[in-house]
Amino acid sequence: MKLPAPHPNELIYSTVARAGVYFGLVSPKQLLDEVFADRKVIATLDLPSHLQSIVGLLSGTGLYDLETLVYKHTLFPLYAPFVPEHIRQKAIKRMSDRADGAVHLMLGVATSRIKSVRTFRFCPICMERQLHTYGEYYWQRDWFLPELPVCPEHGCLIDTSIHLDEHRHQFVPLNPACFTTKTSNKYVANDLPLALAAAELLEQPAQQSPTFAQWTHFYHEIATESGCGRGKQVDHEKILNLVCSRFDIRYLENKGLLKQSQSNSFWLRSIFRKHRKSFSFFEHLIVWQALVPALSVSEIFIKVRRYAPETVLKKSQSSVDNAISISDECRMYRQKWEALVLQHGVKPARHQATGGSLYAWLYRHDRDWLLTFNEQQKRPLKTVNNRVDWHLRDRQLVRHLIRIHLLSENHPVHQRMSATWLLNQLPHKNSVAKKLHKLPLTHQFLVRYAESVTEYQLRRISQFIVESREKHMEIRRWSLFRNVGLSEQRITPDTMKILDSLTYL
Ligand SMILES: [Zn+2]
Repeated sequence: MKLPAPHPNELIYSTVARAGVYFGLVSPKQLLDEVFADRKVIATLDLPSHLQSIVGLLSGTGLYDLETLVYKHTLFPLYAPFVPEHIRQKAIKRMSDRADGAVHLMLGVATSRIKSVRTFRFCPICMERQLHTYGEYYWQRDWFLPELPVCPEHGCLIDTSIHLDEHRHQFVPLNPACFTTKTSNKYVANDLPLALAAAELLEQPAQQSPTFAQWTHFYHEIATESGCGRGKQVDHEKILNLVCSRFDIRYLENKGLLKQSQSNSFWLRSIFRKHRKSFSFFEHLIVWQALVPALSVSEIFIKVRRYAPETVLKKSQSSVDNAISISDECRMYRQKWEALVLQHGVKPARHQATGGSLYAWLYRHDRDWLLTFNEQQKRPLKTVNNRVDWHLRDRQLVRHLIRIHLLSENHPVHQRMSATWLLNQLPHKNSVAKKLHKLPLTHQFLVRYAESVTEYQLRRISQFIVESREKHMEIRRWSLFRNVGLSEQRITPDTMKILDSLTYL
């Protein structure tokens, strides 16, 4: 078994789908078993979770850690710079394991007007290049920019009739033969520059998120610089006019960006006030293109990060402010949520009839309070949850080890696959090493399959001999030693015996 390495800009979703094709696994459940050892994993295009399994399966390449996968092969970089740093970090952590929708909530995707793309689509020109360069097709992440149905490079994108929700546990590979109904996707000229900027966002390296204070400063300054300042204030009317003259009104209306434009809480006003919540990447891009069109995305981040990260409020002060400033509406939501949680507990409360929407509202408007409150409610339960089902874990770990072992057959590991090396590939590796006495199957596996030094040397040697034969190269002992990284000193007596028995060496 072999998990193919992701192609540039390929969604992890797509890599898993290709793996299914490689292994010839027809049943989606079987693919879930092989890759995640968990049949409940939901196939997610934009912000997938359970990435630790993928990191494990790609560990032989030495190229993919969690952060690399998240930043190069998901849509995470579209959202990351706009949420506070602690949320960014929490989201990455959740993406490594089970997320249960938390990542979409944290990043505002679940509650924002800007929705994830739910149907498959592709760019035929990109596909031609894929076939030419890699000999196969794959889902590219820049085809799935929310609100922007356009390939940033070529413009056109073709919609398929295949809806992601119809395949919750299935990873559908990109195979044009399978898409019967295709409709040409209409995009508006305005989408293209925004998609280009979004593609630039995707290219940003993993880095700390700017703080709300930095965003506040940045927006205040660009308002002043574009002549929309009024003393220390911002002239919101002028800004609206500027945005409307850059993008045509109908375009903005279609994207839902002019809703409640007269209201005091209109997003285009709020973004120029003190930031208290995150704005979507789309809202940021709209303002950037209208007010600072000459700046690239990278230049904007450099500018934003130059401001002081924090206008520090003393903790007691901010909580007093908070107590005074919470609205009646907020108080009502808090009380309802408290009642629901006290009755059912945090997680079940979210699944009650009104629980989901209460949670979402509080998450958007009163996040700090909500997270603190929920955390407090969880604490007493923790001791109960700590009980590990060792038998279950043992079986999961062994399955994981078998996968690593199978993977190594097609994807040779360069180090010796010692017991320590194998343990290091596992989730919860530290506790596993300490609790081996509770994990008989895992223990057995390590005893049986961990490579001895001789086995390792012989594996490298036979690999070299096979490769040389394939290339019709003559095998000399010195070239074998050099290529395999062995020396007369390091070679074990057993390996030496076998080498000596090979007459052609
Ligand atoms: Zn394209």
